[in-house]
Amino acid sequence: MTDTIFAPATAAGRSAVAVVRLSGPATGRAVAALAGGLPQPRMAALRTLRDQAGAAIDQALVLWFTGPKSYTGEDCAEFHVHGGPAVVAGLLEALAALGLRLADPGEFTRRAFENGKLDLAQAEGVADLIEAETEAQRRQALHQLGGALGHAQTRWRDALIEALAMFEAAVDFPDEEVPSDVAARARPVLADLIADLEHALVHVKRGEQVREGFRIALIGAPNAGKSTILNALAGREAAIVTATPGTTRDIIEVPMRFGGYKALLADTAGLRETHDEIEAEGVRRARAWAGDADLRIWVVDGASDAPATAPDLHPHDLCVINKADLPSGAETGHALVEARAFGVEALRLSAKSSGDIAALEHALETRVVDALAGAELPTATRLRHRELLAEALERLQRALVLEDDLELAAEDVRLAGRALDRITGRIDPEDVLDRVFSSFCIGK
Ligand code: GDP
Repeated sequence: MTDTIFAPATAAGRSAVAVVRLSGPATGRAVAALAGGLPQPRMAALRTLRDQAGAAIDQALVLWFTGPKSYTGEDCAEFHVHGGPAVVAGLLEALAALGLRLADPGEFTRRAFENGKLDLAQAEGVADLIEAETEAQRRQALHQLGGALGHAQTRWRDALIEALAMFEAAVDFPDEEVPSDVAARARPVLADLIADLEHALVHVKRGEQVREGFRIALIGAPNAGKSTILNALAGREAAIVTATPGTTRDIIEVPMRFGGYKALLADTAGLRETHDEIEAEGVRRARAWAGDADLRIWVVDGASDAPATAPDLHPHDLCVINKADLPSGAETGHALVEARAFGVEALRLSAKSSGDIAALEHALETRVVDALAGAELPTATRLRHRELLAEALERLQRALVLEDDLELAAEDVRLAGRALDRITGRIDPEDVLDRVFSSFCIGK
């Protein structure tokens, strides 16, 4: 039998009100013991909460929900108490004394999932909504909580079942009443489904970028001004600025916002040949981070005569020729040629001029908004979804090619269905569920 759990649902510390929630079969008994009786279900009631010795803990608003009409689907209750740490501690102690157990992170939502109140993708939407810092993250999380991915998955599932039925019919009755072209009739169904999954996969990248932040790397030779630019954009001294080359050795990531979207701006070790092992590792990490980033800013010291060699750049990246307040160095022209070869726009500026930094900020904002804004909200939003979609897609593509071997094709369609079912957690091993729910906070 399931046990009864409790946890504070509001953040620790002082607040006007703190909420402690309960879920499980002993909830009613616990509420009656603390509040001197059960209030009407779903109606707020003001009660004095008392511990087992009869001492008052606090006056509280008590809410009692009978399952299955509750968040978890079980009997649930909420105590809204004054948000002082001693009040909350006293209430938690009294609940433990009644034999109830403190909930694990995400356990309320896990119970909701297990009782069919929401699917796994919606549960992830709950976690994302709690984590949401930007409006874009909030919109996306709400969309997911609304069941967008589950609805898409139901559509995909119907198409799979249709295709599978055709394959199986052809396998079971090879030359009898089933028309010989039955497998060929499955082809357009599979092709449509493949197009649908490809579409979802295109958007999942955007979903991940909105959730986790758009990754922007500052990369270039030591002393070009990367740390100065990072600090100027961040509006604080996040990175150390010195005239000594090779100072930044690890990656400094600063969370920022551009156009209402979360971004991660990273200062990386200056790219140069070095015999210093630690610095060499820094350079390796810098290249790796920049390679995976969504946008690179190649920073060039515009006052230097040292040769400027471009790192690997992509067409929407930016090149900044820095130190425009100083006389131009001999290599500036060469850097511009290199940037142009990658199709990258170059901005000449001084990291020490606030007007120039505002122009750079504007250029970054345009790029972030162009990449992340879309008329359509992504339905799939995280790595877990991306991997399962990719697996299903691969299976279906193979099924399409294997049409001559109907049994193998049918098996691939079946396995594609399994991958898709795992998106909503319809079938999923415990460890996957453990991983998803352990990322939640306690009380959710
Ligand atoms: P990093 O190694 O690329 O991170 O470069 P830093 O940001 O540490 O800057 C190296 C040196 O160049 C420091 O002494 C900065 O003050 C200086 N610097 C950075 N940007 C400018 C600029 O636009 N103009 C001038 N005159 N100096 C700059």
